[in-house]
Amino acid sequence: MDGSTGGSAGLKQHLIDPEICIRCNTCEATCPVDAITHDDNNYVVRLEGCNFCMDCVAPCPTGAIDNWFQVIQPFSLEEQFSWDELPPKPELPEAETASVDALDDEAAALLEDAHKGAGGKVRAPASASKPRVNLFNRGNPAIAKVTGNIRVTRADTGSDVHHIILDFGAVAFPVLEGQSIGVIPPGVDANGKPHAMRLYSICSARDGERPNTNNLALTVKRVLEPQHDGTVLRGIASNYMCDLAMGDTVQVIGPFGSTFLMPDDPDADIIMICTGTGAAPFRGFTERRRRLASAGRGRLHLFFGARTPAELPYFGPLKKVPESVLAQDLCFSRLPDAPKEYVQHRMGTRAEALAELLRKPTTHIYVCGLRGLEAGVEEAFANIGTVGGFDWPALRATMREAGRYHVETY
Ligand SMILES: Cc1cc2nc3c(=O)[nH]c(=O)nc-3n(C[C@H](O)[C@H](O)[C@H](O)COP(=O)(O)OP(=O)(O)OC[C@H]3O[C@@H](n4cnc5c(N)ncnc54)[C@H](O)[C@@H]3O)c2cc1C
Ligand code: SF4
Ligand code: SF4
Repeated sequence: MDGSTGGSAGLKQHLIDPEICIRCNTCEATCPVDAITHDDNNYVVRLEGCNFCMDCVAPCPTGAIDNWFQVIQPFSLEEQFSWDELPPKPELPEAETASVDALDDEAAALLEDAHKGAGGKVRAPASASKPRVNLFNRGNPAIAKVTGNIRVTRADTGSDVHHIILDFGAVAFPVLEGQSIGVIPPGVDANGKPHAMRLYSICSARDGERPNTNNLALTVKRVLEPQHDGTVLRGIASNYMCDLAMGDTVQVIGPFGSTFLMPDDPDADIIMICTGTGAAPFRGFTERRRRLASAGRGRLHLFFGARTPAELPYFGPLKKVPESVLAQDLCFSRLPDAPKEYVQHRMGTRAEALAELLRKPTTHIYVCGLRGLEAGVEEAFANIGTVGGFDWPALRATMREAGRYHVETY
């Protein structure tokens, strides 16, 4: 493939943002086809040279390299050399924008589906850091090494959830809390095609599982589904991941996700509602806040449901997180001597405190987990609206528009 993805959608052109670029020469030294050059003013990309291999994207220390415009009339090298800033993205007729930036359609479709519970146009929080996406793809996956794999639910329960640490060695794989990665399981499916990639939420903070390590962690539930004929469906990717041994390597693509991100505003209150592996991004949020130890007034509020404490991932470590960082509402639906309690019930119990939080313009809501969670949460917020004297659907629309209401369910 060369630099033109032509047709009625025009051309895709790779450009460098001269305002951000620090002229470090890394991209020019990295590009395997010499598509990057420079003069005294700017670093620029040759349209006819770039084959979109993405090799230059991860090493660029500033992100200046990560710009992809859909154009009818490409910018010449002379124009690029003369820029002080990137020009505005050209307006294309609606039909011609369809294929813009579709670097990984598979991931985009999965994420769109996972976020549709939020309805309408989903936005990132205004104060979120700028995410890097699509740095590695199927043709060019990052190879990560397994440096940890431990079960985080009790062994005598049917819920087998693992905390898996992937180390990227010398490869830059920059992530933000709330993003996901794609894992490509080895082997082929029943039709002889390579397995589809599966998305997993990152459960560590942006600076690694421990500060300043080049790794990330995942929370993976082993999918085992008994079938009517007595056999058990073993989920392809989740069993592959949960069975990984130390030192094994994994093909990773992404990172993905540019809206389900954590606000950087230290004053933001964050309400996090989850079940099961939906806790993964919220572990990342919690670690981030804990490490910042900022003087911000914002607090994290976690509503986390499971059948029993033994089946709640990270139950032990969670109990050690100070209340000042994380207010915890853990609720259980299968305790032998207590009535069933689901997250929406606990939200009802906390209705007045939640109504108070929802009145603040700095409060953000995140819902994550299996799809069944959404209906109960929606009902709970509607009831909280009644208690607080506000119209929940209207407030939700306002919050969504402001990047303060997020759903990721699968
Ligand atoms: C945005 C996004 C983020 C995700 N984050 C995570 C994560 O952090 N941790 C995680 O374990 N999974 C996560 N998933 C689900 C993951 O991508 C896979 O779908 C899941 O691991 C099953 O893949 P598999 O290959 O093992 O199963 P397959 O061979 O594809 O079989 C699919 C079966 O698994 C069931 N299933 C899918 N996910 C789960 C689950 N979490 N618990 C129980 N049953 C499930 C489906 O209903 C289906 O019956 C996420 C999905 C999306 C779209
Ligand atoms: S995407 Fe690949 S071909 Fe294009 S400039 Fe970067 S390294 Fe060179
Ligand atoms: S690697 Fe990034 S910052 Fe360095 S010259 Fe290239 S675009 Fe500029």
